[in-house]
Amino acid sequence: MASAIIVFSHLRWDFVFQRPQHLLSRLARHYPIVIVEEPVHDTERTFLKTYSPAPNILVCQPHTPVAMPGFHDDQLPHLQKLLRELVRDYDDHLAWFYTPMALPLLQELKPRLVVYDCMDELAAFKNAPKQLLQRESALLKVADLVFTGGQSLYRSKRDRHPNVHCFPSSVDRAHFVQALDRTNSHPAHREIPGPRLGFYGVIDERFDVDLLGSLADAHPMWQIVLVGPVVKIDPATLPQRANIHYLGQQPYEALPQFLAGWDVCLLPFAMNESTRFISPTKTLEYMAAELPIVSTPVTDVASCYSDIVAIAGDAESFIAACEAALLAPPEEHARKVEGMRRVLAATSWDSTVEQMRALIDITPRRQDIPLIEPAAVPVAIDESEAPNVNLLRRDEASRFAKTAIIGAGPTGLSAAYHLGHDAVLFEKNDMVGGWCRSIRDKGFTFDHAGHIMFSDDPYVLELYDILLGSNVHWQDREAWIYSKNVHTRYPFQGALHGLPPEVVKECIMGAVEARYGAAKPGATVSSTAKAADCCADGGVALSGTNVASLEKRGPANFEEFIHQVWGAGIARHFAIPYNRKLWAVPLTEMETSWLGGRVPLPDLEQIITGALEPAAKPMGPNARFGYPLRGGFQALVSGFVPHIKGTIELSADIVAVSPKQHLLTLADGRRYEYESLISTMPLPELVRIIGDEAPEEVKQAAAGLKHISVRCVNLAVARENITDKHWIYYPEDTTLFHRIFVQGNASPECNAPGGFGITCEISYSPDYKPLPLSGQALIDRCIEDCIKVGIFRGDDKVIVANEADMPYAYVIYDHARARNVDTIRSWLAMHDIILAGRYSEWEYYNSDHAFIAGKKAAEAVKWVERKSAVAAE
Ligand SMILES: Cc1cc2nc3c(=O)[nH]c(=O)nc-3n(C[C@H](O)[C@H](O)[C@H](O)COP(=O)(O)OP(=O)(O)OC[C@H]3O[C@@H](n4cnc5c(N)ncnc54)[C@H](O)[C@@H]3O)c2cc1C
Repeated sequence: MASAIIVFSHLRWDFVFQRPQHLLSRLARHYPIVIVEEPVHDTERTFLKTYSPAPNILVCQPHTPVAMPGFHDDQLPHLQKLLRELVRDYDDHLAWFYTPMALPLLQELKPRLVVYDCMDELAAFKNAPKQLLQRESALLKVADLVFTGGQSLYRSKRDRHPNVHCFPSSVDRAHFVQALDRTNSHPAHREIPGPRLGFYGVIDERFDVDLLGSLADAHPMWQIVLVGPVVKIDPATLPQRANIHYLGQQPYEALPQFLAGWDVCLLPFAMNESTRFISPTKTLEYMAAELPIVSTPVTDVASCYSDIVAIAGDAESFIAACEAALLAPPEEHARKVEGMRRVLAATSWDSTVEQMRALIDITPRRQDIPLIEPAAVPVAIDESEAPNVNLLRRDEASRFAKTAIIGAGPTGLSAAYHLGHDAVLFEKNDMVGGWCRSIRDKGFTFDHAGHIMFSDDPYVLELYDILLGSNVHWQDREAWIYSKNVHTRYPFQGALHGLPPEVVKECIMGAVEARYGAAKPGATVSSTAKAADCCADGGVALSGTNVASLEKRGPANFEEFIHQVWGAGIARHFAIPYNRKLWAVPLTEMETSWLGGRVPLPDLEQIITGALEPAAKPMGPNARFGYPLRGGFQALVSGFVPHIKGTIELSADIVAVSPKQHLLTLADGRRYEYESLISTMPLPELVRIIGDEAPEEVKQAAAGLKHISVRCVNLAVARENITDKHWIYYPEDTTLFHRIFVQGNASPECNAPGGFGITCEISYSPDYKPLPLSGQALIDRCIEDCIKVGIFRGDDKVIVANEADMPYAYVIYDHARARNVDTIRSWLAMHDIILAGRYSEWEYYNSDHAFIAGKKAAEAVKWVERKSAVAAE
C-alpha cells in the first residue's frame, strides 16, 4: 500500500473548498489521506470523530474537554493520545502541515517525509497564536519539502529552507467554465437585478469593508453580491446597503452559477499586513468564467496579471475601474479574455499535484527524525527534586518576565540592551561579562584567556564607541610562534625565515605540491576566505589568501583540510601539532564548515617571500586590535550596563527550566514565568536543567555535543617590559600551554607598577586530554615552561600566580555537531526558546559575533511581539 499522508490543518474540510481540498482530493488518487483537523470542545470526553468525504480521504476531528482554540499547547496531551492510536493503522506515512501550530504532534509520528504546504502567512492573520512564527521556524527546520502558495510567499520562504517550491493556486477549469453558460445563473439572483458585481470567498479582516461601502454608495443601481462566510470579524462592521447582498457560504458546486449571473468579479482586499502574501485562488476561477476582474493592488495579482485584471489602489479608481469594466468595448474585453485563456492553459491542479508528487518521490527518505519522543504531559516542577533550590520560597507566587534572558555574557547583555524595560537578565555570577570578565589580583588585570577587540562590522564598531567611549587603546598586533627554538611571526606560512633550512625547504616543497597537485588548471579563484584568526586562537589564518573551488572531493576532515591548504611541510611543522594541541580531539574527528567551506590555495609568493627575508610587521586594518585602556576586557562588556532598561539579576543561577510551563526556577527558590526565553547558557547544560520534559532524542543530541576546556594560569613577575609581543603560539609538546597571552601589553594599565603580567592557556578535555596537573603544581610547571621558552628569566620573581578555569571554552565541530544542534534547537524553538551566543548556538563566536547574536535574538523576540500585537488588533 502507498504511504499515507497525515495532514494537519487549521481549515475544516467542510469549510470553503480551497487549496487543501483541491490538492488533497487529487493526491488521494495515490495516497490514503488522513486529515487531522483542529479540536472541537467536548465537555466530557476525548475522542476522534471521523468521516470520509471522498474516496481514500479520512477526516479526523478530535474532540477534547479543553476549551482552548486550535492546536493550543493545552490540547497537546489529548491530541497526542488520539494521534498515537490513529497512526497505528498507518505505519508508512508522510506528515503534511498546513499549520505550524500542530508541529508538536510530529512527535507522535515517524514520517518518511515532512512536507509544509505554506498557503498563507498565517502569522499575519487576525488572532494568530503568538507562537506561530517560532513554530514556523521550527517547522522549516524539520521539513524536508516546502511548497508555497504564491510568488510573494515563495520569496519570503525561499531563503529559509533549501527545498522550497512555488506552487501558486491553480484552477479546476472544467468546473468553472460552466459559468460561460450565462443562462445558468444561480436562483439566488432572481430578486437581484443587474448589473451585478460579485465576490466569493471568506469575508474576514482581509476584506476592505470601506471600499465596499464606497462602491455601493457610488452607484446605488449596481448590485453587489457577496458569497462566503463571515469569520473573525463582527458582521455588524460590514456595510449594510440596499444594494449589497450577503448570501453566506455556498457549496463549491454552486460557484459557477453565481459567476454566470455576474457582470464584474471583485477582489476587494484591504492592503495591509494580512494580505501582503495572499495569492487569491479565485483569481483564476474568475478568469475561467471570462468575466472582467477588478482588484486592489494585491502583490501577487498585480505583479502577474495587471494586463488582464484592472488594478485600482483607492476607492475612487476602484469605482472607475468597475465603471470601465461594465462599459468596456467588446474588442477590449476579447483581448483580456485571450490573456485569461493563455494563463489558464498553463496551469491546472492536476499538473500541480503531479509536480508535487515528483518532488515527493525524489526527496530522500529522512534518516533521522528529531523530536519524535512522545512529549510528557506538562507537569508542575517539584522544587524538592530540582538541585540546589532554596525550598523556603516554594510557596511564593511566581514572578513574571516578558522576556527572560539566561546569562549576562556579551550575548545576553547585548540582547538586554536591544530589548526594553520588560526584559529580565539572569546571571549566575556576581558580575556581568561571561568569559569576557576580567580578574584583578594585586594591581594586575587578567582576562579569562586573552581577549582582544576586532571587528569589520560597522555596527559593532559603533557599539565599541558606545560601550567604551575614549577608554580604548588600538595597536598593531605582534603575534608570534615559538618553535624549533626560534620565534617567527604569525602566520607561520608567511614567515618561515629563521627556521632551520631543512624545515623551510620541506614547507616550501609541500606548498608547491599542494598547489599544483590539488588545484585544477583554470580552477575558479576568489579571494573571500571566511575564516581568519581574528581573535588569535591561531588555528587558522586564511584571510587574503586565494581561494579555489574544491576539487572533486573536498577535505573529509580538518586534518585533510590542513594538508590541502598548506601542504605536508607546514602541516607537519606547525598546523597539525598546533591544532592537535589546541583542539585536544583527533583532527580527523572535526569537519570544516566553520572554516568557510572552501579550501584556499597556498599563496606561494607569500610563503617564498617570508622564507627569504624576515617578515615585515603586519600592516593595515586587520593587523590592528583594540583593548580597553583601563579595566581589562571587562570594561567593554560592562559598558552595556548603564544602557540596559530592563532588570539585571546577579547571583541568579537558573537551575530548572520548564519549556512547557514557560517557567524558570532559580537556585534561591524564586520562580519566573516568561513569554519568551533567550538562552545563552551552554546548550548541554540547558538541556540538563530542562530534565525529563526534553525528549530522549534531544537529551541524546545534547550528550553528543563536544567541547574543550581551557585552564588559564595567570602570572606576573617583578620586571617591566618582559617582551614586546602580544601573544605567542607554542605548537610543540615542550610546553604545557599552547598559547601565552601577554596581558601586560594588551594595555599598559593591566600591569601594577614595576611588574608585568601574562596568561598561559592550556586546553584540555576530560575525555581526550585530561589536565595533567592543577593548583600549585600546574602553576610551577607553567613558570618552568616560561623560563624554558625565554619569556621569564630564571631570576624573575613571580609576584602573582592564580588559575582561572573555563569549562566550556571551544565548541568542537565534530561530524555530528550540526545534526545534534539542529535536533535540540528545533525542539526548543517549538517551546519559544531562542538560542543565542557561542555556547547556546554551539558556534565559534567571538565577542563581536556574540554582540550581533544578542541583537538578533532581541529582534526575533520583538518581531514576534509586533506580529502578535498586529494580529490581535
Ligand atoms: C580561550 C578563548 C579566547 C577568546 N578570545 C577572544 C578574543 O580575543 N576576542 C573576542 O572577541 N572573543 C574571544 N573569545 C570568545 C568570547 O569569550 C565569547 O564569544 C563570548 O564570551 C561568548 O559570549 P556569550 O555571552 O555567548 O557566552 P558566555 O560569555 O559564556 O556568557 C554566558 C553567561 O551565562 C551565564 N550562565 C550560564 N549558566 C547559567 C545559569 N544556569 N543561570 C544563569 N546564568 C548562567 C554564565 O555565567 C555567563 O556569564 C574567546 C573565547 C575563549 C574561550
